[in-house]
Amino acid sequence: MPETRLPIAVIGGGMAGMTAALEAAEAGAQVVLIEREPALGGRVAQLARYFPKLCPPSCGLEINFRRIKQNPRIRILTRARVEDITAQPGGYRLTVLVEPRYVNQACTACGKCVEVCPAEVPDPWNYGLSKRRAVYLPYPAAFPFQFVIDRSACLSGCRACQDACPYGAIELTEQPKQEVIEAAAVIVATGWSPYDASRLTHLGFGRFPDVITNAMMERLAAPDGPTGGRIVRPSDGKEPRSVVFVQCAGSRDENHLPYCSSVCCAASLKQATYVREQCPDAEVTIFYIDIRTPGRLEDFYQQVLNGDRIRLIKGKVAKVERSAETGRLVAVAEDALSGRKLTVEADLIVLATGIVPNSQDLPPVLARDPFGFLAIPPSEKGIYVAGCVRRPEEVAATVQDATGAALRAYQCLVRSLAHA
Ligand SMILES: Cc1cc2nc3c(=O)[nH]c(=O)nc-3n(C[C@H](O)[C@H](O)[C@H](O)COP(=O)(O)OP(=O)(O)OC[C@H]3O[C@@H](n4cnc5c(N)ncnc54)[C@H](O)[C@@H]3O)c2cc1C
Repeated sequence: MPETRLPIAVIGGGMAGMTAALEAAEAGAQVVLIEREPALGGRVAQLARYFPKLCPPSCGLEINFRRIKQNPRIRILTRARVEDITAQPGGYRLTVLVEPRYVNQACTACGKCVEVCPAEVPDPWNYGLSKRRAVYLPYPAAFPFQFVIDRSACLSGCRACQDACPYGAIELTEQPKQEVIEAAAVIVATGWSPYDASRLTHLGFGRFPDVITNAMMERLAAPDGPTGGRIVRPSDGKEPRSVVFVQCAGSRDENHLPYCSSVCCAASLKQATYVREQCPDAEVTIFYIDIRTPGRLEDFYQQVLNGDRIRLIKGKVAKVERSAETGRLVAVAEDALSGRKLTVEADLIVLATGIVPNSQDLPPVLARDPFGFLAIPPSEKGIYVAGCVRRPEEVAATVQDATGAALRAYQCLVRSLAHA
């Protein structure tokens, strides 16, 4: 185990970043884990369940949080963004801006601040399906388990949370801090965001409240989500009798995302099982171009098909409209096998929108491919990429990817020590 001088910097604290940080730290490296949000976990923490085993995300997250807590070699910076990365002898120099949390370590997450907070904003954690206060806990199982304040949502001059906190944990005047980190190697694992569905007006998003995205469906089905895990229509809170999934909503489309996001088919099959469980009498239809469930996900596909009454129709949905006769939503598609026009009425329509890499606000030294995924040339020794910011992938592949990146970064560290 080398006695390291410089840490490995890991940017992004989702499954990929946490895995890379843990693998490197457990091998003996010092690690700085830089996460832009107030808690670790990434998008996986927002899922209701994981395919293929359909276990809750806490299965994978809790064990990682425990390993991180127990490892003194990992330093975590939350609400932190890397503004600049420059090469220097023996590694890289990162300039990091750490935004204040306005809540210090004395916070016990008692929630007294939330009770008195008068400001409410749409909750991005639930993709706007619910509201939250200006002071909030990122999510019930968040790590670090500590409140945070969204100052942009605070009412002018309000100090209600500070007055109510029995522990003196609120610091409304806290300022951003800049930190310079010298690292032997850098792993970038900043993951993905859902494609902006407001660009899919032809599919009814933004026009009809009961047209939602696959990411929103995960929150609807999550026990800690806006409906306590009940799958209902956002418009009236009623259970749907017919649910239509629209595959490749904006994906494999030159006007939107030209690539396949690889996980959306398995995600919709999984979500169809949520509907089946909760609303056994509901009709479930999946419109697809091709079902893409590579590798072991083929077993998952077969398992869902065999177990549940789910109708799959090969055909691209051209538009979603409201029926003048019934007032219900209608998905209009062409059946690719018969060539006939098809219409299916639905109470809830789920758009399987794709994955967009979180690479926009990273320093320009990190090279991108034409779609925005990071593609660092091999000549750039010491910067490695893992997870969905490299390519769309499921959690298991992300974890393997991150383990490989940790090994490469560790080798870099060992080389830099040998030359020191
Ligand atoms: C609808 C849907 C359902 C899915 N369901 C499943 C499933 O059931 N099973 C499965 O295996 N996979 C599933 N996936 C895929 C799964 O979400 C990804 O494999 C996983 O999130 C990848 O982890 P990641 O760490 O690469 O990215 P993320 O989970 O996106 O984590 C990235 C982290 O980096 C942080 N970050 C971003 N930018 C910065 C920055 N500039 N600086 C610092 N930090 C930053 C983010 O805040 C986040 O914490 C699903 C995907 C979709 C779209």
